Amino acid sequence: WSSRDFSWTKELEVHNKKVFGNRSFRPNQREIINATMSGSDVFVLMPTGGGKSLTYQLPAFIDEGITLVVCPLVSLIQDQIMHLLQANIPATYLSANLEWTEQQRILRDLSSPASTCNYKLLYVTPEKIAKSDALLRQLEILYSRGHLSRIVIDEAHCVSQWGHDFRPDYQHLGLLKKKFPETPVLALTATATASVKEDVVQALGLANCIVFRQSFNRSNLRYIVMPKTKKCLEDIDCFIRKNHHKECGIIYCLSRMDCEKVAEQLRKYGHQASHYHGSMEPFDRAEVQRLWSKDKINIICATVAFGMGINKPDVRFVIHHSLPKSIEGYHQECGRAGRDGQPSSCVLYYNYSDYIRVKHMITQGSAEQVTSRPHGGSLSSHVQALQTHKENLLSMVSYCENDVDCRRLLQLIHFGETFDPSHCAKTCDNCLKGLRWIEKDVTNIARELVELVLATRQACSSSHILEVYRGAMNQNVKKSCHENLPLHGAGKNLAKGEAARVLRHLVTEGILTEDVKKSDYGSVSSVLKVNHTKAGGLRSGNHIIVLKFPTPEQ
Ligand code: ADP
Repeated sequence: WSSRDFSWTKELEVHNKKVFGNRSFRPNQREIINATMSGSDVFVLMPTGGGKSLTYQLPAFIDEGITLVVCPLVSLIQDQIMHLLQANIPATYLSANLEWTEQQRILRDLSSPASTCNYKLLYVTPEKIAKSDALLRQLEILYSRGHLSRIVIDEAHCVSQWGHDFRPDYQHLGLLKKKFPETPVLALTATATASVKEDVVQALGLANCIVFRQSFNRSNLRYIVMPKTKKCLEDIDCFIRKNHHKECGIIYCLSRMDCEKVAEQLRKYGHQASHYHGSMEPFDRAEVQRLWSKDKINIICATVAFGMGINKPDVRFVIHHSLPKSIEGYHQECGRAGRDGQPSSCVLYYNYSDYIRVKHMITQGSAEQVTSRPHGGSLSSHVQALQTHKENLLSMVSYCENDVDCRRLLQLIHFGETFDPSHCAKTCDNCLKGLRWIEKDVTNIARELVELVLATRQACSSSHILEVYRGAMNQNVKKSCHENLPLHGAGKNLAKGEAARVLRHLVTEGILTEDVKKSDYGSVSSVLKVNHTKAGGLRSGNHIIVLKFPTPEQ
């Protein structure tokens, strides 16, 4: 798609420079544009900051007719339209937050025969496609006149229930290809595993689409996982002071309360920090974002609601104050750092108890969805989606627990890429440590832990199991008489953390499961259960478990 000359090749070169102010094309941009302008359906996987917008805005400028862009967030749409209007490209949008009369005016404009002169791009939120018959009628008119030149689905991974950011309104977008089969569709995303991609392609009806996929490696980002202790906020303060003093960053927190607490504490430490979350008034939220964009605030402490469509190029660090819900989500959140290509840091503070908290939130969120089921959807698909979310979370735990392998490799494997860790050039904590490691057969430890979970009637937490296994004689152990169990103290000679590592491996492999519950007092607790199907091989001696452990530093 790059070498052939097309009738529009010259125009592309000229307008890319003149209208968009770019000196050249970035990797894959020209190829994607040629493919979509040739009339093919196209699926694009390109990391954040790669330059996806140009791949439809430039064709929209050149082609006659209107390009329909489906985009999940109004703030993102407004930002795009502002840039387009600055470049003198006529664009507009329809969303529920516009006055009714304004929406009517735009719809009228669309159906006027001269409408193609008025607008080159029409942005809509997905619920408009799902709910506005008036819009669909106008699109039908445009289509019948041959004026619907392209359909763009931005953030296309939102179509997939298996993705980390599923949006129910995106599910209806399949009707676009059915209604307008001759109009090429361009689906864009910065995040999709192979299964999410398949799901999106199927849901949108893009049977023969051309796929462009770019490496997800972001070589200017440094990845670090740190143990999260009680003094996590002090650690964050030190990290920022030492590495990114007065620079701009995002701290992702799990809950709204966490956002407020973290921002407050950082202010006490002398940083300019604010919180951002879904419970704030839209005006306050927009104001925080504005101040941050203009460098009046350095640090935003936010839930994951903050980020999609953030265009700030000089974000120097992204810190995760708690465990992200999936590797895909984590990669995308980190991707908001260093869009200008300059070195930037991504630090994740991890402890196992955050896993229990996040798992509880996921389970609870899904239960609420099943009870209300506002968008239909079968119960079995909800159950399946919940299972996927739990597995995604476990992959994240496994990523954090791994203190040996290159972090880039671990992330890229997830996206179906291969990566030679020597190219990491010590830009992740594991490669930087440069520790040697040994492989150790831990089958026996694993089997003993499973037997211990069964012996304690599957009613104890992982920390209790570890205490019993290591031979603790504290009150909890004595109260439950677990010092009398044959496996009490069986792991007393193991190195510190070794049994815990094996136990967590059993959880990430699904051999043990954490059954999370909320107490009457609101605290979240968890007990370990055995998944008998998966534990069968281990108990019968057919399943060998080998783990890598760092060797002590010389
Ligand atoms: P994405 O949507 O993939 O995250 P954007 O389309 O927002 O990325 O582009 C990211 C930044 O890169 C924008 O500031 C954009 O103007 C810039 N950009 C895109 N293409 C080019 C190019 N060919 N040359 C220079 N800058 C570009």
